[in-house]
Amino acid sequence: MTSLAAFGAAGLLALAGWRIGWLTPGGAAAGWLIGGTVFWRAGPVGAVLLGTFFISANLLGNLRARGGRKRTAATRDARQVLANGTWAALGTLILPAAPALGWATFAGALNAAQADTWATELGIARSATARLITSGRPVPAGTSGAVTLAGTLGGVSGAILLSGIAFSLGLSLSLASGALLGGIAGMLADSLLGATAQGRFYCEVCQAISERRRHLCGRTGRWEGGLRWLDNDGVNFLATAVGAATAVAWARLW
Ligand SMILES: [Zn+2]
Repeated sequence: MTSLAAFGAAGLLALAGWRIGWLTPGGAAAGWLIGGTVFWRAGPVGAVLLGTFFISANLLGNLRARGGRKRTAATRDARQVLANGTWAALGTLILPAAPALGWATFAGALNAAQADTWATELGIARSATARLITSGRPVPAGTSGAVTLAGTLGGVSGAILLSGIAFSLGLSLSLASGALLGGIAGMLADSLLGATAQGRFYCEVCQAISERRRHLCGRTGRWEGGLRWLDNDGVNFLATAVGAATAVAWARLW
């Protein structure tokens, strides 16, 4: 795809994503950048894979926002888009120089985002309580680092779907199976980092633990644990890197 066609098509899709409420204006700009890069360097195969992630993640998010227990906006902002898409886009940039490394990075990182998003959306929609991946302690569904059976099965399904599409579009069995492993590894890394390293803050007014220093009510919370600077977007960025690294390692072994 020429760069003009790629960034033109990605721009139209990002605009549509903003119009239907899936992206904030900043999220649309970030999506345009990520999508344009992927369309340009990875062509129709990259476009279908990225499109599958983008559309399925948002459909599940809207489903949850409408029918779920917690009514939360499913609109993605720039930080969320970049946290999920940066490693995938970087993978496509190295495609001309190192095709196998580039595809493994792209597919592994994207599938980590896919598995984690499906796990989060389906886990919150289907379960009231979840358990921390580290201690097994029951916590409300949606807590960082919490896992549920529905969420885990959902995440694995999402990873199988995307790697299956990748294989049917011509990616080798080595790359497709590496993407599947990368998706699952990324999802686990996301839960582990969420339970241990992610910053936790306590809002004394609402008496609630939050992953954000500034609580939803607008007050600044007291630091409880974890790394102060590491929020959910940072965890997603690291987890997609784990997905990419797993797929790359698998492709090299095989
Ligand atoms: Zn509060």
